[in-house]
Amino acid sequence: MNARLRAFLAAEIDGLKSRGIFRMPRVLETAAGPRVRMDGRDIIQLSSNNYLGLTTHPKVVAAARRAVEEFGAGPGAVRTIAGTMTVHVELERALARFKGTESALVFQSGYTANVGVVSTLMQEGDLIVSDELNHASIIDGCRLSKADRAIYRHLDYDHLREILKGARARGAGKILVVADGVFSMDGDISDLRAIHSQCAEFDAIPMVDDAHGTGVLGTNGRGSVDHFGLKGQWDIQIGTMSKAFGAMGGYVCCDRPLTEFYVHRARPFLFSSSHPPAVVAACSAAIEVMETEPGLHARLWENTRFFKDGLRSLGFNTGQSVTPITPVIIGSGARAARFSDALFERGVFAQGIYFPMVAEEKSRVRTIIMATHTRRDLEEALEIFASVGRELGII
Ligand code: PMP
Repeated sequence: MNARLRAFLAAEIDGLKSRGIFRMPRVLETAAGPRVRMDGRDIIQLSSNNYLGLTTHPKVVAAARRAVEEFGAGPGAVRTIAGTMTVHVELERALARFKGTESALVFQSGYTANVGVVSTLMQEGDLIVSDELNHASIIDGCRLSKADRAIYRHLDYDHLREILKGARARGAGKILVVADGVFSMDGDISDLRAIHSQCAEFDAIPMVDDAHGTGVLGTNGRGSVDHFGLKGQWDIQIGTMSKAFGAMGGYVCCDRPLTEFYVHRARPFLFSSSHPPAVVAACSAAIEVMETEPGLHARLWENTRFFKDGLRSLGFNTGQSVTPITPVIIGSGARAARFSDALFERGVFAQGIYFPMVAEEKSRVRTIIMATHTRRDLEEALEIFASVGRELGII
């Protein structure tokens, strides 16, 4: 290895080790479920975004199997180059129906959807206004755009208003206001009504990244826009199919001219092949399950209330969460890492989250509830949280 490269890597890795947060991913030996085998141990999984348990739902798995038989393993090329398969077109129709929009376009992941949608639309002379805790893929979309950027304080809509008023007074071009529907590190939610009314007042475009809202909020998990009663009034909905859908892929749901624009201009769509047919068919089946089996959604919320109440009554600091994502805020990264390790030793996996994902002093372990956790899984997890929390002086 090049000597300069070796020295650079040694400094980076030593830095992580000296902060007590050097951890390679644990190895899963089973499908993503409520109880998994990980690093050779049987544990309760509290870190998966498989909210509804659809990664292993029989209808989802059967759809993937059928598509691989019919269409093979891969898409062959970029959709605009080699033609687009019926499975992709069907998925886009199902997404538009589910989200109540005129049109939808699929990307390889939520990450590429955000990067493509933000960077392509927003050009020189435009302004992107973004919540300070938005997901990294939105931030990277902003970085790739030639538009100006402004950050509003987390959920502070007075601050957003000030920025919008100033921008209109200065004669900005298009203005995009973008926010996570559900914030992935804290489990709190954007007030889309507040954002919507300010966008209307200042002629701005509302966009939500509903990666953690879809499958979770709204009727049958239709997402944040549905939850706030804004169907038909919201310009851009982004999401991922790697979480509640139980598969993989990103999407934008919006009016047709916008998807037509992205088909011709969005670089992740034009320069990278689409995701494989089996995955696409699994996503379509997941939508059908969400539409026809609302019991899963109800169960997710029952489990969420039970577990969140349990953590709070034990005295943990769970921040402002109102969704199945509940952080347990610890303080330093090293302490959060120790807490996560000790939980694992006792049979619970709750991933430690540190800088740069959150500020160092807000390091945490993050818990995520699934519809498929049993009451016994959650009771056992709470018992383990209580005993480890007391031993480490966290509660
Ligand atoms: N947005 C948010 C809010 C996310 O949490 C994630 C996934 N961590 C993404 C986008 C990216 O989704 P994907 O994993 O499909 O790239």
